[in-house]
Amino acid sequence: RQAQAPDYLKGLNPEQRLAVETTEGPVLVLAGAGTGKTRVLTTRIAHILATGRAFPSQILAVTFTNKAAREMKERVGVLVGEAVEGMPWLGTFHSIGVKLLRRHAELAGLKSGFTILDTDDVVRLIKQIIQAEGLDDKRWAPRTFAMMIDGWKNKGFGPSEIPEGDARSFANGRGRQLYQAYQDRLLTLNACDFGDLLLHPIRIFRQHHDVLAEYHRKFKYILVDEYQDTNTAQYMWLRLLAQRPGGKPISPLEGEMPGRAEGGASRQPHSPPSVASGDISPSRGESGSAINICCVGDDDQSIYGWRGAEVDNILRFDKDFPGATIIRLERNYRSTAHILGAASHLIAHNEGRFGKTLFTEQVAEDDGKVNVHAAWDSEEEARAVGEEIERYQRNGHLLNDMAILVRASFQMREFEDRFVTLGLNYRVIGGPRFYERLEIRDALAFFRVVAQGADDLAFERIVNVPKRGLGEATIRQIHDTARALRIPMLAAAATLAESDELKPKPRAALREVAANFERWQKALDHTPHTELAEMILEESGYTEMWKNDRSAEAPGRLENLKELIRSMEEYESLRSFLEHVALVMDAEQNAELDAVNIMTLHSAKGLEFQTVFLPGWEEGLFPHQRSLDEGGRSGLEEERRLAYVGVTRAKKNLHIWFVSNRRIHGLWQSTIPSRFLDELPEAHVEVQEGGNSYGGYGNSYGGGSFASGRGGRQNPYGASRFDNLGADKSGGGSFSNTYATPGWQRAQANRTEATDRNWGTRSG
Ligand code: ATP
Ligand code: MG
Repeated sequence: RQAQAPDYLKGLNPEQRLAVETTEGPVLVLAGAGTGKTRVLTTRIAHILATGRAFPSQILAVTFTNKAAREMKERVGVLVGEAVEGMPWLGTFHSIGVKLLRRHAELAGLKSGFTILDTDDVVRLIKQIIQAEGLDDKRWAPRTFAMMIDGWKNKGFGPSEIPEGDARSFANGRGRQLYQAYQDRLLTLNACDFGDLLLHPIRIFRQHHDVLAEYHRKFKYILVDEYQDTNTAQYMWLRLLAQRPGGKPISPLEGEMPGRAEGGASRQPHSPPSVASGDISPSRGESGSAINICCVGDDDQSIYGWRGAEVDNILRFDKDFPGATIIRLERNYRSTAHILGAASHLIAHNEGRFGKTLFTEQVAEDDGKVNVHAAWDSEEEARAVGEEIERYQRNGHLLNDMAILVRASFQMREFEDRFVTLGLNYRVIGGPRFYERLEIRDALAFFRVVAQGADDLAFERIVNVPKRGLGEATIRQIHDTARALRIPMLAAAATLAESDELKPKPRAALREVAANFERWQKALDHTPHTELAEMILEESGYTEMWKNDRSAEAPGRLENLKELIRSMEEYESLRSFLEHVALVMDAEQNAELDAVNIMTLHSAKGLEFQTVFLPGWEEGLFPHQRSLDEGGRSGLEEERRLAYVGVTRAKKNLHIWFVSNRRIHGLWQSTIPSRFLDELPEAHVEVQEGGNSYGGYGNSYGGGSFASGRGGRQNPYGASRFDNLGADKSGGGSFSNTYATPGWQRAQANRTEATDRNWGTRSG
């Protein structure tokens, strides 16, 4: 049988192969970083397709980011060829949610052309609502309330479901009422926010069993990557889709959701799920009852707790899906032994986790240890990282294979500045995006109103752009008319333009606006959308406005507008383009160019690079002070998981940096090296001192000037071998780690024990 195995199965290890070939029944792959979880998912899709178990359209595959979805599509494409094109249900929770909602919009009180609001729109809308309620929006900040709503939605709460305490905490107990007003307003605007992309389908599935049944018939196989980071709403959504009539009843969705209990944030050591030794789930064969769901994840990489992710979802999998086959992968194919050793040792400091063993057979003589570097400040750090990158480049490495992963996005600027100076290509992944630039947002607002006339937020943004003498008073009048007649603002503007309620000048201006939109909307059906877009920008006077603008940015803005039109060519219609824009969370720049990747640790999840730089390992920045303040011990553990994610992105080379002085909120502060540095095992770490660029600081490190610069601050975490790097040139002198054996060696030693016993115990 081995000999006849199709190509895509070759090279898989036995556990991976089991995970691929156990197509029927629930399967959970719970395994550490780089063990091939994502590879299992893609191969599983290929296997399902190649063996004719399902059509491409019958597979629901959920990834965490758009980037991951694209990569998965590519990887499946390599294995099965064109068939992948027919996989409409491969995407993120949001992109699949929007597709479902478009099909059943009317069941949620929407029309199918609804708009998806971004955070800015949401905040503006909430501000209006707070003001309309006669509340002071300085005291009750719209942004805060937007975050609260997002939090509720992540937990699956509609306005009537939020806990009493939550409802009381905003605007003197009016939280629930404001939330309801916000939802009502969204419906009037024929719009929804990101949370609704999941909440609406959940509600539709619950209320319309025929609709749910349709999807039960449709989706024969469900696959989920990064399962450890699903939030409660995503979990409810999945459970509804995975539930099968006639199957073993799944515990009720209401009432016992993880995370609904108060204080759900703390992570307790968990009792182990039963580990099936690869036997096929008993649900197989019961007709109509098979729940062919395969989730893969790693509890050690759960890093979205702050956004409502519930790691418990992964830990209760076998309760939710009785008879689940649980598979563990232990061989890491990504990283060198040094990198893996550092990562395993670091994460062993967390308490609330399953013990996991990881090993690699990738042991090469020339593999370098994990490098830890010190720099004076962040400018120095950026310069030194730049030099390191150039050194790799001279040795034949591609920039594409290198990544800088930061804890906080403000750290990026320093690197960007430096790289511009050096002429080093870089791209920011998931960062400030093209589509967020002012001129792009304006242009998009025009397009949105044309595509969807009830989009009042977009309308308001551009009704007086370019300036047409429409003052606040006129805009308020449009608002009032819209509310009184219960019509969109655009329609209200058209009505006002024909009445004598306005002075001649604003009336003429409104008449022109209304006529413009009417013309463009008519053209929507028969004009190619790129042509229409160009027409809109010309006829509205928007392009003209920037041509007449004397500011330094104006030429760039015109170029961006051109680029915008060009990028629309890749889409079938204005609507699908706008949908794309609303969904793109991680647009890359210069995808074709060889360039260093810069991104936050959070957006690096699931990715891998030959060489990784992790700057800013200092107390307060990493672990981040906010997580420590808000999350206490569990906050610290989430930060540590983030460090684990960062370290395990590296295949071959890893460089960690910390600086002695950092400017935070405009103030210089002397810093303390991150406790995570001390948690790296000495055997796998090399402390780099006095590299070319910062060698000059050797003296100040060692001398009194550096010490006094710290203002007498002491590391509260006890002696650290990094605390006085430079003063103690031998490094490691005060190494305070309690672990004598590097993590991976211990892990390997443990492997001989029954691995099952490691469930629920913590290693180390
Ligand atoms: P993460 O937890 O970071 O998401 P993962 O478990 O999803 O990691 P993958 O990204 O699927 O891991 O795999 C890590 C690397 O190992 C990839 O480059 C993948 O191609 C490679 N790999 C996985 N399995 C094998 C195998 N059996 N043989 C060779 N290479 C493999
Ligand atoms: Mg993965």
